[in-house]
Amino acid sequence: MPTSALRLPPSGSSYDLLVIGGGITGAGVARDAALRGLHVLLAEKDDFAAGTSSRSSRLIHGGLRYLEHGQLELVFEASGERRRLLRLAPHLVRPLRFVWPVYDGARVPFWKVRAGVTLYDALAMFRNVHRHRKLSAAGVAAEEPMVARAGLRGGVSYYDAATDDARLTLANVLDAERAGATVLNHVAVEELTVQRGRVTGARLGDRLAGGSVEIAARAVVNAAGPWSDAVRRLEGAGAGRRVRGSKGAHILVPRSRVGNHGALTLLSPSDGRVMFALPAGAFTVFGTTDTFTDASPDEVRASEDDVAYLLQAAGAFFPEARLARGDVVSAWAGIRPLVATSAGHPSAASREHAIETTAAGVIAITGGKLTTYRIMARQVVDLACRRVAGGRPCVTAHAPLPDDGPARDAACAADARAGARIIPELEWRWGELRWGVEQAHARTLGDLLIRRTKLAFETRDHGLSVAPDVAGYVAPLLGWDAAAARAEVGRYAAEVRRIFGVDGGAGR
Ligand SMILES: Cc1cc2nc3c(=O)[nH]c(=O)nc-3n(C[C@H](O)[C@H](O)[C@H](O)COP(=O)(O)OP(=O)(O)OC[C@H]3O[C@@H](n4cnc5c(N)ncnc54)[C@H](O)[C@@H]3O)c2cc1C
Repeated sequence: MPTSALRLPPSGSSYDLLVIGGGITGAGVARDAALRGLHVLLAEKDDFAAGTSSRSSRLIHGGLRYLEHGQLELVFEASGERRRLLRLAPHLVRPLRFVWPVYDGARVPFWKVRAGVTLYDALAMFRNVHRHRKLSAAGVAAEEPMVARAGLRGGVSYYDAATDDARLTLANVLDAERAGATVLNHVAVEELTVQRGRVTGARLGDRLAGGSVEIAARAVVNAAGPWSDAVRRLEGAGAGRRVRGSKGAHILVPRSRVGNHGALTLLSPSDGRVMFALPAGAFTVFGTTDTFTDASPDEVRASEDDVAYLLQAAGAFFPEARLARGDVVSAWAGIRPLVATSAGHPSAASREHAIETTAAGVIAITGGKLTTYRIMARQVVDLACRRVAGGRPCVTAHAPLPDDGPARDAACAADARAGARIIPELEWRWGELRWGVEQAHARTLGDLLIRRTKLAFETRDHGLSVAPDVAGYVAPLLGWDAAAARAEVGRYAAEVRRIFGVDGGAGR
């Protein structure tokens, strides 16, 4: 029997809290609740972080851009979380210095950029990594020699922080598990049990091994991000739309072609939106777009128009790179689960979160940011504790997130192959795959190559050429025979098309 068949809990099991969705929001809720002593089940229909939480710009940031929209409270809160996460998870969240070059005639003039970073430091209570600095044009050129010089007025440098979104999510999942939660990936909430108008449990289906069970829960949290309206419909009520999806795409190109030293904040030459060029090892990520979408979150990917928009910006600020479509190693997109808004453009829509208890008693959370997940989780779990009349006070403000680095390294020290790189040009090692399966709930090639490592983002074929070898390597660990391993390679090819395929034009 495949090991996965043993993963569902016995039918009739009972929990204090069922969390639906294993993105950063659900993972944070599960961890917070488990650390408070609640008996928690986290169900994720795909892999942990497979939704928006592996498609972000990977920033833990105050959100300098939100100052333009007057969202001072959000910036204050997010800046506090940035400081906290830098302290509680230094292995996952590290300081990132940005240079913002300012050009003549820019939509945001130099004085406003300087006023903005001054306010940004103030909202961080002057406790950011370092304070901002004003740069002359020569100063910008010294920091970023490849950046366009024509019309350069000067700039500023300021600090935010970078993370690995999928790994941050996984760290929360694994810590929830350590604190006693049952955490299940590839297990969907297929139905909600409604008794006398209240949700009292759910039917869970294992999407890989098959089989389903019914469980009972005293409280239920809908943390399904862009899917949360679909989960809401399982309650049976004619629930209206609470989430408005905004699509955001990124492209990844070799950093040696761009020549950026660090991170840059840029204004799109076509519509003046704030964008980023972000260092990612040997690569530079350009992002993001921001367009309302009704696309299914299961099928969202970048379009050729998204790629062209991002390449245009990259080309304007790094003209000597002469970047072309062929330089794009990969492109992907995610959906921001924004609280339903009447804003005309998604960039103007609030990134704040909303928590609501539905008529059937489900605690539903929408919106928010990767950066503010811990606060969102605390507020949700406060409500859940009231519902179940139990649980201790929140401890996540001071509880460090565990570091999976030593366990990864130990897996890579197991034998000579484990320590070797899967692909010579990239840092990912075979032993990390073993760690992924044995200690981090990886059950598919996508779990391993897209979310436990980032190999799929960093190769033009998204790991397809190594997929058969990878399947052979993990087959004994996952109980796959030769036919199952072959089938898994086929499944992986479909997942790669789903995430990294680029739709034809007119897709933004
Ligand atoms: C392009 C882009 C860039 C961004 N950049 C940043 C950034 O740099 N910094 C920042 O702070 N924020 C950023 N964000 C915002 C941030 O990424 C999101 O707010 C956050 O990841 C949302 O997490 P979530 O858990 O709510 O949703 P998701 O990560 O989408 O998780 C929801 C999960 O629910 C699961 N699910 C759905 N239905 C079911 C079901 N029936 N049963 C079980 N599971 C189910 C899904 O499979 C999914 O994994 C960005 C967003 C985008 C799109």
